[in-house]
Amino acid sequence: MSSSWAATVLTLFPDMFPGPLGHSLLGKALSNNLWSLEVRDIRDHGLGKHRTVDDTPSGGGPGMVMRADVAAAAIDAVERASRPLIYLSPRGLPLNQARVRALAAGPGAVLLCGRFEGLDQRVIEARRIEEVSLGDFVLAGGEIAAMALMEAAVRLIPGVLGDHASTAEESFTSGLLEYPHYTRPQDFEGRPVPDVLTGGNHLEIAKFRQQQSESLTRTRRPDLWSAHEKAPKPL
Ligand code: SAH
Repeated sequence: MSSSWAATVLTLFPDMFPGPLGHSLLGKALSNNLWSLEVRDIRDHGLGKHRTVDDTPSGGGPGMVMRADVAAAAIDAVERASRPLIYLSPRGLPLNQARVRALAAGPGAVLLCGRFEGLDQRVIEARRIEEVSLGDFVLAGGEIAAMALMEAAVRLIPGVLGDHASTAEESFTSGLLEYPHYTRPQDFEGRPVPDVLTGGNHLEIAKFRQQQSESLTRTRRPDLWSAHEKAPKPL
């Protein structure tokens, strides 16, 4: 394993990768080895002539469940080193920017993508797999969730977004939503860029943006707002 941020993805659909991660700045960073992506086909560990990976749910019910032994074999074949082992799952803790920052600062991640009804509970326990959710909705598989997690983490790796981009002022970094952005033209369909932004007074601009951030967060995300208000304030 190289020293750059290393992702290993376990999936039944390896052809889906790198997909969107191969484009734009993340794709460039991938070619430049600022991060690496190894994709493993879970079906390589499937059983029998048909390389079966799933079976009917114990106790009955619809759909199929990914077998614990197959998933464990796929996991055990990975040289994990100290990387966190994550199953993308709607039952996990929802991913947030704090977790993304912690992941980006680490050595990488091993990401297990579920399909069907999900994964046999016993492998989650036996391999102490952390479950991470993209949000309170159900996807058809873990692949897009894994891509979202990798994209969020990789863009924080120094050098990936280039010098001009700052990730310090973004939404969530301060616990607040980001202020709105404006650019040319000065007048769009009768809506001018706010005067303060073109006046050149940097203190006033910072104040305006802070106010915008606060009022947006208060109205759109009362959950973030109350956490922000409870957080210790810098002196
Ligand atoms: N029956 C499961 C849903 C299975 S969806 C349940 O109700 O909890 C199939 C796969 O899609 C899951 O194994 C998981 O890997 C992925 N998936 C679905 N929703 C997700 C979400 N919100 N976050 C991350 N992964 C998700």
